[in-house]
Amino acid sequence: MKPKFTTAELYQLYQDGLSINGVAKKTGLSFALVQNRFAKAGLKTRNHSEAQKLAYIKQRRKPAGAVTISGPDHWCWKGGKAKRPYRNKIKKEECNTCGSRQNLCIHHVDFDHYNDNPENLKILCVSCHLSYHKQVYWDAKKNGEAHKSSNGPVGWTRSEGQPADRF
Ligand SMILES: [Zn+2]
Ligand SMILES: [Zn+2]
Repeated sequence: MKPKFTTAELYQLYQDGLSINGVAKKTGLSFALVQNRFAKAGLKTRNHSEAQKLAYIKQRRKPAGAVTISGPDHWCWKGGKAKRPYRNKIKKEECNTCGSRQNLCIHHVDFDHYNDNPENLKILCVSCHLSYHKQVYWDAKKNGEAHKSSNGPVGWTRSEGQPADRF
């Protein structure tokens, strides 16, 4: 005799991350039956892209007991120099230009990524940041000036010859 499961129980398994096929296998019911029960109850099932996303998350989930390695034991540890210290100096709350609270980044007002004075840091959203840099680029081009560009990549080991008093 087949074990009996309520639709709610089946759906709980489904929501816990099993596929319809997985639910069917686990409960000994057929795929079509599980699918039917969900459909009859008007329960929402994942579409293809949602299912793929879930599979991706599941695959990336750490196995039980896995330890996160950080600090000197991590394979890309750079002696504590890789951190971008300015990130801790300013709180990313909203874009200074458009007020967006999403996709925020930190812009260096004088384009010097080694100048981490709080007044040199400006919060912009990625889109305002891009358009600002584009505008600076085209303004310089129009005026026949050299394009002012940032001295990144930032926060890594200072290259030789950079003035040390800027850090
Ligand atoms: Zn913005
Ligand atoms: Zn910038």
